[in-house]
Amino acid sequence: MLYYSTNRNSQPASFCEAVKSGVAGDGGLFLPTDIPLVPAAVFRNMPEMSLSDIAYVVLNTLIGEDVDSATIKSINASAFNFDIPVVALKDSKLFSCELFHGPTGSVKDLGARYLARLCGTIFSGESDANHPVTVLATVSSDNGLAIADAFHDVYPCDVFVVFAKGRISPATRDRIIEIGANIHPVEVRGSNNDCLAMIRTALFDAGLKGHIALTSANSINIARLLPTTIQYFHSWACAVAAGADSDNIVISVPCANLSNLSAALIAVRMGLPVKRLIAATNSNDAFVEYLQTGVFHSKPAVETVTPAMDITQPMNLPRIKELMSGISVPVEGVAMSDNKIIATADELKDKYDYIANLHSCVSAGALIRNIKADEYGIFLSTVAPVPDSCPAASRHRIDSISPTYHALKRIINPTSTF
Ligand SMILES: *Cc1c(COP(=O)(O)O)cnc(C)c1O
Repeated sequence: MLYYSTNRNSQPASFCEAVKSGVAGDGGLFLPTDIPLVPAAVFRNMPEMSLSDIAYVVLNTLIGEDVDSATIKSINASAFNFDIPVVALKDSKLFSCELFHGPTGSVKDLGARYLARLCGTIFSGESDANHPVTVLATVSSDNGLAIADAFHDVYPCDVFVVFAKGRISPATRDRIIEIGANIHPVEVRGSNNDCLAMIRTALFDAGLKGHIALTSANSINIARLLPTTIQYFHSWACAVAAGADSDNIVISVPCANLSNLSAALIAVRMGLPVKRLIAATNSNDAFVEYLQTGVFHSKPAVETVTPAMDITQPMNLPRIKELMSGISVPVEGVAMSDNKIIATADELKDKYDYIANLHSCVSAGALIRNIKADEYGIFLSTVAPVPDSCPAASRHRIDSISPTYHALKRIINPTSTF
């Protein structure tokens, strides 16, 4: 299958070319020219299918023309070596799709591990230790650790992890520096947007690209995006298996750089029968305004209780514009203030006996506030809950649940006061 540029000013590329160059030569982002449908019969069987079977069907549908099925199977097995539990909340029609059970406890593990393993496979024939593939990634929050972890020891990739001084926690910084081997940390005196600008400059430097193989590990790379479509098929199937009405399911998606929403729209275009999508932001709500007005006005960043989502220039906006055209499923924007996010954490605990990280409360709160009585709702949970992210009353319960929360707390958000 061919991949076109959202700027429509360069030649369509094959899947492997799109992965290798990260972005199109004209500054656009790659999207499939044709999004194939999953057959209706597969949806009927999906509630009985395992996560790995769903992952295979979805990825084979998307990239099966370009990557042989044995390779897809082996990448799936090593990339998705963790579960994605879909937890039914007590006495409700709500489900939490827990995307934080990967090795770094972040939603980014899924896409980053897939991309890394795919790069390891498709680059292996062409490069060697003397001619590595240079992979650039900006890391704007502690969850960026997922990228460094996913590419560790994946050769022939030489990975430069670029982050702004002071924008990630000292513990995550230490972790990224400690990894070593093919992971090269680059600390920048500047902002997250400065880091992004540096990477964009490099990726669009034709002279540089003529000399070295250069790509991106951010979600602008199509191979980080496509595997995350799995989470929507899987969570829909789990909800139906648990008794949800298959035609009446709403999915709430957290929105920062809009990679999860891009993947949700691709899943819908592949035939996923969701009734509507909720696009949830924190107070950095320019995208919610975009959904209402059709015009995107970037606003200055405000710091919120969900720092991983404090994004003002969403990288995947050009994809959203393309993917939304002609789609019949409504996409409703909901902005969640800090107060609402914190109130959601309390409500989840008190009413549903469920403990969530504040980041997960953005999509959860947007769903709870907008779901109708006859609907079933799924929200994406993006970060493992840690003691400090919970209402005081529930902290000790978490402590007793699992000692790994202590480790995760140090890794993910050691400075959080929530
Ligand atoms: C990276 C990240 C996101 C991703 O946002 P997208 O809009 O899907 O690009 C959301 N939440 C958390 C906690 C993250 O780390």
